[in-house]
Amino acid sequence: MATVNGATLIARSLKQQGVDYMFGIVGFPVQGIAAAAQKEGITYIGMRNEQAASYAAQAVGYITGRPGACLVVSGPGVIHALAGLANAQQNCWPMILIGGASPVYQNGMGAFQEERQVLAATPFCKYAAAVEHSARIPYYVEQAVRTSIYGRPGAAYLDLPDDIIRGEVEESDVPSVAPVSDAPRAQTTPESIDAALAALESAERPLVIVGKGMAWSRAEDEVREFIERTQLPFLASPMGKGVVPDDHPLSVGAARSTALRDADVILLMGARLNWIMHFGLPPRFNKDVRILQLDISSEEIGRNVPAEVALVGDGKAVVGQLNTALGDRQWFYPKETEWRQALAKKADENATAIESMMQDDAAPMNYYRAFRDIREWLPEDAIIVSEGASTMDIGRTQMPNSRPRSRLDAGTYGTMGVGMGFAVAAATVAPDRPVVAVEGDSAFGFSGMEVETMCRYNLPVKIVVLNNGGIGGGIDEFPKDRPIPPGILTIGARYDKVMEAFGGKGFYLEDPAELRAALDEAMAFDGPALINCRLNPRAGRKPQEFGWLTT
Ligand code: ADP
Ligand code: MG
Repeated sequence: MATVNGATLIARSLKQQGVDYMFGIVGFPVQGIAAAAQKEGITYIGMRNEQAASYAAQAVGYITGRPGACLVVSGPGVIHALAGLANAQQNCWPMILIGGASPVYQNGMGAFQEERQVLAATPFCKYAAAVEHSARIPYYVEQAVRTSIYGRPGAAYLDLPDDIIRGEVEESDVPSVAPVSDAPRAQTTPESIDAALAALESAERPLVIVGKGMAWSRAEDEVREFIERTQLPFLASPMGKGVVPDDHPLSVGAARSTALRDADVILLMGARLNWIMHFGLPPRFNKDVRILQLDISSEEIGRNVPAEVALVGDGKAVVGQLNTALGDRQWFYPKETEWRQALAKKADENATAIESMMQDDAAPMNYYRAFRDIREWLPEDAIIVSEGASTMDIGRTQMPNSRPRSRLDAGTYGTMGVGMGFAVAAATVAPDRPVVAVEGDSAFGFSGMEVETMCRYNLPVKIVVLNNGGIGGGIDEFPKDRPIPPGILTIGARYDKVMEAFGGKGFYLEDPAELRAALDEAMAFDGPALINCRLNPRAGRKPQEFGWLTT
């Protein structure tokens, strides 16, 4: 009779369930799982901190549609990875965290790295379970994978004690399970489709908001068709960018505040009225705005603003229904309206407001000048990773996306430090596409050591650090007579040398005249590169109409 151990069962089950990528850090008791994963044909990427590994696993989930796995050691390993579990859950992205645990027979004894891991993981995921018998591993892996991608996607946690990982069982005693198919695409009711279209037809100032739920649902063809046929102005959420290309003439991203504030009917698709969307409330929204809400999660309908029409179902399926119903109506929003004119005027004004900063060649440079060159340099098919405060906010408007699932940023949770894990994941699953990470200096620092991971696997990520020497802004020199202010980082820190330490290519510059050549040289380099751009420490954003987090 053939026996099999727990480690092999985990690897086989993951592979069977279409989990092809694992990110982690090995040690007691999970070493055997990583080795078995490689043997079973799972790509294993060894990282330098569990946080970054957990960020990588969820980016794989979002980009590929199947969860990535994150493998961590017991106790502190699991605790570090909770950062990623929480981030995945908030973003509605699938991932599976596999935490090693101290052996069951030492429970309560003060075992090495003993921790109440399932309890700790539970608030941050959809599904958390401890495997109590090696033979049941395939069952639990199936549950975790299915839960992570069905309904509203999210995170799953599996606790694997040392004795379960090492346990040997007869193969014939392992109950077999079926592979999880892609999530069923639920349609909504024909009545709500009609009601939504009727509401849009009655609108004077309509707006479609496209969120990352639509990107996850791979609804790009349907959403593009819907926008083209209805000629409705649309606004992408930060990571909804690229479902319809940013340079589409119907995009009103350049007049975001006006579009949100004055719209009378909003079709909200795969986006939440949370802080990113200012809760859908005044002063950022019209107090009488009528919301037509498409979401896979019924519980989300009506959050903060009651929905006039609920379109509960899968994004791709429901927008497909809308398109079919449009066939009979032959309706589109007229070409010449005051609303279109108002939005176009505001977009022009916003472009004018930043023009002088874009043309400012002073050294050290400002954000807009830096982004001018970055934008021209960015390949059309790039996967763009973006984090930092101003770096991310300005980057959102200055770096266009023309493809879906091609912007990865701090997301719903506003997590800083996700960028390096996301970049490692993107370069791993999409080796044929350029991966560009534009990072604030503070954001880069959270997981900066992952450049070693990039160099080790020769992942050709291009990192641009917009270095203003601080969280937010910096200063010109350290004070001699008082403590260093809390938000201040090393002035002119040479992050480029961190990259060079491991064999990647580093560039340091202050003069914007040198930027484009450095970017080009970095792109031509066959491996990871980091362009460290010193910014004026007082460089800022264009003045905003509303303060941050205005409610
Ligand atoms: P954004 O940050 O882009 O505004 P959010 O993460 O806030 O997006 O919202 C995404 C929404 O998409 C969530 O409410 C989630 O339930 C929903 N969603 C997830 N998967 C699907 C799907 N397949 N179809 C429709 N909606 C989905
Ligand atoms: Mg900074």
